[in-house]
Parts: sequence; structure tokens; C-alpha cells
Amino acid sequence: MDVISIGEAMVLFTPETSGPMRYARDYTSRIAGAEINTLIGLSKLGHQTGWISRVGSDEFGAMLKNAVRGEGVDVSEVAEDDEAPTGIFFKENVYGDHVRVHYYRKHSAASFLNPESINEDYLTEAKVLYITGITPALSDSCSKAVFHAIEKAKQHKMTIVLDPNIRYKLWTEEKARSTIIEIAGHSDIVFPGTSEGEFLFGTSDPEGIAEALHDLGPDTVVVKKGEEGAYYSCLSKKEQGHAEGFRVKQVIDPVGAGDGFAAGVVSGLLDGLPLKESVTRGCAIGALVTMVNGDIEGLPDRKTLELYLSTKSDVSR
Ligand code: ATP
Repeated sequence: MDVISIGEAMVLFTPETSGPMRYARDYTSRIAGAEINTLIGLSKLGHQTGWISRVGSDEFGAMLKNAVRGEGVDVSEVAEDDEAPTGIFFKENVYGDHVRVHYYRKHSAASFLNPESINEDYLTEAKVLYITGITPALSDSCSKAVFHAIEKAKQHKMTIVLDPNIRYKLWTEEKARSTIIEIAGHSDIVFPGTSEGEFLFGTSDPEGIAEALHDLGPDTVVVKKGEEGAYYSCLSKKEQGHAEGFRVKQVIDPVGAGDGFAAGVVSGLLDGLPLKESVTRGCAIGALVTMVNGDIEGLPDRKTLELYLSTKSDVSR
């Protein structure tokens, strides 16, 4: 295995019509989850990935496992829970661009992840443990599972990668800040956004965010700057700089860009590319994700990524 991640995936329902959801009759459904987005992004690029999770032994759980397995991610460590259901959520387009998200995830199967959910042999055979700030926010037992995985990963000298992915609805600001700072302290690579830097350290300046994170321990920090690209800094290699963003004519759906970005950077590093090129790969994938509806649909395979990186034309003949 190259990369293992731990976290919840859910089924997302979106009404076909805009306006209050009480009047909606038809919905489309999709799978959603930051960790699976990144694992699927890596898998599409040919890396071996595995997902540690829990779903309900219900139809939505089967849908999630089938879809994630279908994208090439190993789901052998996804347990099925007979008591708790798979989490679902809805995105309601209340008016104009105003979207309200409604979660039905409290006491979901994944919220019962715990240290015993982590198969140590399975985890520690991988090179990278990929963590987001969402999983520790789900429940106390989820938080313990994350710290347990970190401890095992450190013992086996795995690379620990953190995307803070702060979800303010899931926990208090104080708890979010202190837990994410603690996990960052155990990580080798961190991918904060500028607004996350502001929340964690009171600065949105990429260099200031990188400095604050380096002080906690991580050797590599890559700060996401939306359409402007990203700032990267690696202490041991003394590499610092900005990778430019790719121009996107029309953003169709910006959600999931950060997860695709993480897949791109980790993929580049697994391929042995220099940090700057890895960050450029991340920026390219982030941009590709914004051009397509959905979180995983825009994630490229290797051929598409190479085509995008090498052509300026919009038409492939
Ligand atoms: P999210 O949480 O919505 O998935 P994020 O806030 O973690 O995203 P962003 O900074 O929005 O992360 O996006 C990650 C990367 O994707 C950026 O660093 C950039 O390279 C690329 N990207 C995002 N939005 C755009 C855009 N509009 N145009 C070009 N590139 C983009």
C-alpha cells in the first residue's frame, strides 16, 4: 500500500429544484467524503490506497463501498455496523447561490470508529498515513482512533500527512484549534488553506502560516491559495516558493479542489518528484476538480493529467 486514510464517507442528496427542500420531490445522489476523495484521486493516478472506515449494513453503506472499491481503493478494512446507519446529508439551494447543508450523521456507523478499528499490520505496511481534521471531530472514539493510528504510523516511520479541513459545525472553535494543532505537531506534511491559517495562528500570510507550522514540527508545509495556487516550504531541503495556479475559465463546482490538490502533491512526492513539481501537480488537479460537477468526477487519471499539464489548447483531437 502507498496511502491509508481513516474517515467517514456519506451519501449526499441534492434536490433537482432550488428553493426550500420541503417542496423538493426529486434528488440526485452522490458519494462524499474528504478522505475518500483524496484516496480516489491517488488511486486514479495508479497508487495503491486503502480506506479504514465503518458504514451501516444498509443500502447506503453498500453504495459507498461499491463506489469506492470501483474507483480502485481497497475497502477490506471498512467494517459494517448492524446497529448504526450510514451517514447521509443534503445540500439545499435555498435561494440564488445560498446553499444550506443538513447533516444526518450523528451516531452514524463511522462515528463509532475507535482504536480497535485500526488493523495495525494493514496500516503500517503503507508508506503514508493521510489524516484530515474531520475524523477527530466526529466523536471521542474517532479522535482516539486517529491518535492511535498516528502513534502506530510514527513507530513504523510512515509519513504522516494532514489536511486540517476544519468543519466548524462539528466541534467548538477551541477544541478544533487545539486538536488540529496537536495533530499538526505529529505530522510531516501539512496542507492548510489561508483561512485555516488565520483561524489557527491569526495570520493569513502563507509564509507566516508555514513558519508557525514548522515551529510545531512539520518539515513540509504547503499553503493553498485558491485560484492563485500555493506556497510551499520544506525545511530539510531548504525549498521555498510559490507554485502558480492554473487558469480556469469557468468554475463549475469548487468543492473538493483541496482534496484533489492533496492527492496531487502526495502523488508527486510518491513518484519522487521535487516539491515544487509535486505542488504544481496538486494545483493542476485542484483546477481540474473545479471544472466538473462533483468532488471525484474531475479527478484525472495519469493520461488526462499529463494532457492537461502539456497542452494549452481546449480541444484534444
Ligand atoms: P475545498 O475545501 O473546497 O476542497 P480548499 O479550500 O482546501 O478547497 P483551495 O485553495 O480552494 O482549497 O483549492 C486547492 C487548490 O486547487 C488551490 O491551491 C489551487 O491550486 C486549485 N484551485 C482551487 N480553486 C481554483 C480556481 N478557481 N482556479 C484554479 N485553481 C484552483
